[in-house]
Amino acid sequence: MIKFLDLHKINLPYQEALHHKMQEVIDKGWFILGEEVKMFEKSFANYCGMKHCIGVGNGLDAMVLIFRAYIQLGILKKGDEIIVPANTYIASILAILQADLIPVLVEPDSKTYNIDPDLIVEKITNKTKGILVVHLYGQLADMDKLNAIGKEHNLLLVEDAAQAQGLTFRGNNTKAFSFYPGKNLGSLGDAGAITTDDDTLAEVLFAMRNYGSEKKYYNEIIGVNSRLDELQAAFLNVKLPNLETENNRRRQIAKRYISEIKNDKIVLPFCGDFAKHVFHLFVVRTENREHLHEYLKENSIETLIHYPIPPHKQNALAEWNNLSFPITEKIHREVLSLPISPVLTDDEVSKVIEVLNRY
Ligand SMILES: *Cc1c(COP(=O)(O)O)cnc(C)c1O
Repeated sequence: MIKFLDLHKINLPYQEALHHKMQEVIDKGWFILGEEVKMFEKSFANYCGMKHCIGVGNGLDAMVLIFRAYIQLGILKKGDEIIVPANTYIASILAILQADLIPVLVEPDSKTYNIDPDLIVEKITNKTKGILVVHLYGQLADMDKLNAIGKEHNLLLVEDAAQAQGLTFRGNNTKAFSFYPGKNLGSLGDAGAITTDDDTLAEVLFAMRNYGSEKKYYNEIIGVNSRLDELQAAFLNVKLPNLETENNRRRQIAKRYISEIKNDKIVLPFCGDFAKHVFHLFVVRTENREHLHEYLKENSIETLIHYPIPPHKQNALAEWNNLSFPITEKIHREVLSLPISPVLTDDEVSKVIEVLNRY
């Protein structure tokens, strides 16, 4: 069986270093906001070319905290509208709701599946204050156009980079990352981070993730407990140096899939420039998805669906269920994610290609 994602195999090369780090943290006996968190924040900020990195509990919290910090600073206020892609993982939308802001959904470009910049302007009202950009599946959204729209309409841009660790971003917008175990840089539990160039925002965020406190037992603002765990930070310190190599391996596999899969029934992902994609997922489309999924399973290839139901059709967002986003809905009906990970072997890649070409 070719697994969709073999986390055991992915972490195997790091096993010894991870054990060593774990022992180190246990021996030190400092488990909250210690040296490992500081070191990771410094390394990740450097790696991203940003001034600050704030380690937080997970990717969702990273986004919620960014919005709440902007509210704290008076740059956003409750009830402001934030443009967000309709075609995203629900976390992007939940983050806006949890910060008491109003998500305004916009359809994706049918080639890249990322938000279509040309459809944004018609959604802008006098309450619109920001855009939450998502780099879906690891592909850079159309940042030239998005940054220009932001500038022209005085909108705050925030980026959901949960699927895009290691991507070369455009511009210094504040970004949210998740290090959920299956992400390109994955921890061994929940973890997340924010990167920003804004000193004031960083100061608020450092306090907000830790009960609103900079000095222990002195609370300056109303905060939450969403600290990057010391042990997870230690694991991330072990894995970060290899992220670039692992992303390049993902690109290599994607290049082979794109050039060697030849089947009229399968729509391959659009990738104009491999430098603008870190292939967190390799997503194809087909009219009869369940059939292809079953066929691949019979041929010992595991695939997943990202995602089966769009956010506006979820029970949790019942008041939106009657809205219509045809491009988003079509994508959700047709997508299927092929195995792609740095530990997939050349033979396994060949097998996936061969089986798909026979379909
Ligand atoms: C994984 C993911 C998140 C959330 O990350 P968590 O760490 O699980 O909270 C947010 N947005 C997108 C697009 C994601 O893929």
